[in-house]
Amino acid sequence: MPEGDTIFRTARTLERALGGQTVTRFETVLPKLARIDCDTPLAGRTVDLVESRGKWLLMHFSGDLVLLTHMLMSGSWHIYRPGEKWQRHRSHMRIVVETPSMLAVAFDVPVAEFHTAHSLERRAGFNRLGPAPLAPDFDADLAVANLAARGHLEFGLALLDQTALAGLGNVFKSEVAFACGLSPFRQVATLTKEQLTALVATARKYLVANVTEPSGHRRTTTRNTQKEQNLWVYGRQGQPCRRCATAIRAQKHTADGRISFWCPACQE
Ligand SMILES: [Zn+2]
Repeated sequence: MPEGDTIFRTARTLERALGGQTVTRFETVLPKLARIDCDTPLAGRTVDLVESRGKWLLMHFSGDLVLLTHMLMSGSWHIYRPGEKWQRHRSHMRIVVETPSMLAVAFDVPVAEFHTAHSLERRAGFNRLGPAPLAPDFDADLAVANLAARGHLEFGLALLDQTALAGLGNVFKSEVAFACGLSPFRQVATLTKEQLTALVATARKYLVANVTEPSGHRRTTTRNTQKEQNLWVYGRQGQPCRRCATAIRAQKHTADGRISFWCPACQE
């Protein structure tokens, strides 16, 4: 699943391609979106802003209309010049937003909704998002407090709770835990405030590092962008720890079956 850094990059690319431009054509195979377009056409509106919040992508149009999308496992947004060949088959197309110079195509997006500013505030799963480390107004203290309020959770799961901290997924969760030397299976209640603060700061550092690198790079936490060398622990079960050579382990969290990767020697 794309994590916050991927969605942030996508939003930035879409903003650069479409921001400030007038929509000349809107096309969708999704009936609910088509109905809104029929009632209050997209064509003629301006793309005011494209932004990410956590793993959500928001395309704001003039006239109080927001297209909210979530990629989950399968979705993606591409941009093309008019007439350029698409990289995915047309059968995967869900939405096209076209301007005079560019078109944005959403492929296989499983969640796509139109909202007004008002309905967005009431949208379950979105309105309670915790602070997003990539947001300019990120409130680290609030993120720490949100985590601390989830004392009963294993912190690997607390880091994935988008209402505590928005934008982390499975990869960064394991990587952040390794960087902080903490087993992701420890309950939040066993961590000190300093440890929680370090987890939040590391999460932000990794996300920021992965949106400031040149595009087309491979996600990295080790600062090495080579294949197979870019991550500390994620996906490396059975391989030697990069710090101590102990075999990396993969283990499911009992609460929901998601997997964390960790080094039993470096993390406690
Ligand atoms: Zn180790």
